[in-house]
Amino acid sequence: MTARILDGKGLAAQVEREVAAQAASLIKRYGVSPALAAVLMGDDPASVLYVKRKAEAFGRAGMRSETFHLPASTSEAELLALIADLNARPDIHGILPQQPMPAHINPRTVFERVDPAKDVDGLGPINMAALLVGRPRLVPCTPAGIMRLLEHAGIDVAGKDAVVIGRSVIVGRPMALLLLQANATVTMCHTRTRELTEHTRRADLLVVAAGKARLVTGEMVKLGAVVVDVGTNRVDGKLAGDVDFASVSERAEWITPVPGGVGPMTIAMLLRNTVQAAESQMRSARTV
Ligand code: NAD
Repeated sequence: MTARILDGKGLAAQVEREVAAQAASLIKRYGVSPALAAVLMGDDPASVLYVKRKAEAFGRAGMRSETFHLPASTSEAELLALIADLNARPDIHGILPQQPMPAHINPRTVFERVDPAKDVDGLGPINMAALLVGRPRLVPCTPAGIMRLLEHAGIDVAGKDAVVIGRSVIVGRPMALLLLQANATVTMCHTRTRELTEHTRRADLLVVAAGKARLVTGEMVKLGAVVVDVGTNRVDGKLAGDVDFASVSERAEWITPVPGGVGPMTIAMLLRNTVQAAESQMRSARTV
């Protein structure tokens, strides 16, 4: 068996076009462009590149984005003051504090301060709680993109045994909640899981978000499984996922490539969340 490819790049381009049309209609109706403020601290090359890619995608979709590039030495108080300013600005509809942040900044504190209506990464407590109780509002971009990719391929997760490797707030936890909401039977694995392979071999759907290159190999995967690789690791200067593509694609029915799978969908969902946030803010501004 050679797995079919879940083409994130292609679907992301389609989502971008949908978002661009929505943005154009908001600009026409309200005379204001949906806009994102990305907040970047320090010079981590991967983060600088992500923020640049996000800004380019906003440009392609005809939306505005501003990048606030702060030195790594910026204090938490200064960062929170900037967040407060952005919360108050009516021309900014989404706020994206880029992770990782320097060690003296607690990212949870930062996400707690972002106005929930502008929390387009869905990582603040209000949006997380909404997801937990099954009334999602702004959903974290990476897991939202994965759900869209599965849906587009016609993969119904209801009743399936889904295994998620990784329990981060940004990927693993919201991924498990979305799969649960879609009626999968969900198992979460992490660094303290015993016998990881016993879990992965049972998985009809395996989502890997560990940040460990080639953690999952062919013999760990059930024949005919759907395998989603979230990992972005640098190996010998090249981008590598958490999944050994060659051996796993011999056993899986569907697989995401790295690059070209989950990454582009994450950016597409950031655009979608921002246009959605902008629409509800513009609508409520008009009614006050
Ligand atoms: P993280 O370091 O916050 O979390 C990693 C999780 O994996 C932890 O919960 C840990 O318990 C688990 N884990 C690590 N090693 C493991 C092992 N050997 N066995 C079982 N569990 C293990 O990372 P994160 O922010 O969730 O990101 C995970 C990966 O996904 C990284 O490579 C990151 O770069 C990538 N990522 C990609 C995108 C994208 O859009 N493509 C978005 C976010 C994160």
